Amino acid sequence: MFMAVIRRLSNRIFVTGLYHVAKDGGIEAKIPERCPRAESDGTCGITKFSTRKRTYGMGYPLWICICSNHNYHFTVYPPGWIPFARNPIVQLTPDGKPIEIVHSDTDSEDASPWSFTMFKAIIAAAAGRLWPEEKQLGVADSLLPVNYQGVARTQKRCIKVFMKTFGLLKNSHHKSRERVCDLLGIEMTTLQNSREKMNTRSRGPPLWQVRGGQGKEILDSLATSANTSDKLLQLMSLA
Ligand SMILES: [Zn+2]
Repeated sequence: MFMAVIRRLSNRIFVTGLYHVAKDGGIEAKIPERCPRAESDGTCGITKFSTRKRTYGMGYPLWICICSNHNYHFTVYPPGWIPFARNPIVQLTPDGKPIEIVHSDTDSEDASPWSFTMFKAIIAAAAGRLWPEEKQLGVADSLLPVNYQGVARTQKRCIKVFMKTFGLLKNSHHKSRERVCDLLGIEMTTLQNSREKMNTRSRGPPLWQVRGGQGKEILDSLATSANTSDKLLQLMSLA
């Protein structure tokens, strides 16, 4: 039986559950067995309460469940997703399997399995593409397409967040890199070399592009699985 997982990102507690394709072709959540209010031996009584339409994100409505035993409503997030995110940590199927990306042009930015994740800023930067300086006028945020990229400032901020998560900032502590090595099985020398390059200005490509290139190399060494997503989530909640 599937156990929904109760997760934590900073102070936020949320529930990850599996979704599957229903008989009518819609995508439905599996009702979790436990809600975040359940003590280790507490019994829950969970049913579907409603759905929440998303104008961007995973492309199907999220289920909101209610636990009548603990009088608690909660949203079920599909694998790879965290609350309020426009993109997943790792792109997975609704039931948590890796998505195989088939692309004829393997050099294309879209060919990377990370292109439609919250790390897409890295992939664009690695390809030497800086997002526009200014936002497209007259388009409300909620109406922007799924693959909306944001502005250059956002892209650079995303790269910084990546560097912080992986212990790659100039002032990042050695311990944060040890954690990355332990969790993701990346070699320490790989991280140290990347950190050196990511913080050294040169006559070559601009720093944001160098940072993107190093970040992409690290991402490309990871399996695009639910397991990786969990580990990245752990790193993000500690960063
Ligand atoms: Zn409960």
